[in-house]
Amino acid sequence: MARRILLLGPPGAGKGTQATLISSALHVPHISTGEMLRAAVAARTDLGKQAESVMAAGELVSDELVVAIVDERLAQEDARCGYLLDGFPRNVAQADALNDSVVNAIGTVVLLNVDAEEVIARMMHRAEEEGRADDNEEAIRRRLEVYSADTIPLVTFYGSAVLDVDGMGSVDAVFSRIMIALARS
Ligand code: AMP
Repeated sequence: MARRILLLGPPGAGKGTQATLISSALHVPHISTGEMLRAAVAARTDLGKQAESVMAAGELVSDELVVAIVDERLAQEDARCGYLLDGFPRNVAQADALNDSVVNAIGTVVLLNVDAEEVIARMMHRAEEEGRADDNEEAIRRRLEVYSADTIPLVTFYGSAVLDVDGMGSVDAVFSRIMIALARS
C-alpha cells in the first residue's frame, strides 16, 4: 500500500533528521520543500532569487511557488508508491491544494512534539554547525510564530490522521517512537 506521510512539527524539531531515517526504513522518497528551496537559492535560479530574502526572514514563500514545485516533484516516478513530506503543506491553503489531487491525499500525519525551549536550543546549535541563513534569533522567532499561526491549524485539518509523537530525547529514541506509531496506524 502506498504510504503518503506528512511529518509535522515546529522548526528545529528534528524533522529533517527523522525524515531521512523514516524514508530509508519505509523506502519512500523524502520530499522536503525547505531543501528544494535552499537548493534553488544556492543554484541562483529564478525561484531561488524570489525565495531567498523571504526565507532568510523566516516568512513563508508564496503558496503558488511552493505548490508548483511540489506538484512537479510528486509527478516523478519515485513518488508513485508513496512519499514522506517534510515542510509541506505548511498552511491550510497548501493542504487544500494537495487534497484537490486525490492521488496525493495524505494518509498519515506524524506530529513531532518538542518543547519551545528545546527547539530554540536545537536551532541555535544548527546555526553554529550549518550556518543556515534563517537560523538567527530574529528569524527563529518569526518561524516559530509562523508555525503557530499557519501550520498548527493543520492538526485540526488532518484530524484523526494525526499521530502524536514525543519528539524529545535522542534521535534513536524519537525514531523508534515514530516507527511504533506508524506500525500501529
Ligand atoms: P524548512 O527547512 O522546512 O524549515 O524551511 C525553511 C524555509 O523555507 C521556511 O522558513 C520557509 O521560508 C521556506 N519553506 C519551506 N517549505 C515551505 C512551504 N511549504 N511553504 C512556504 N515556505 C516554505
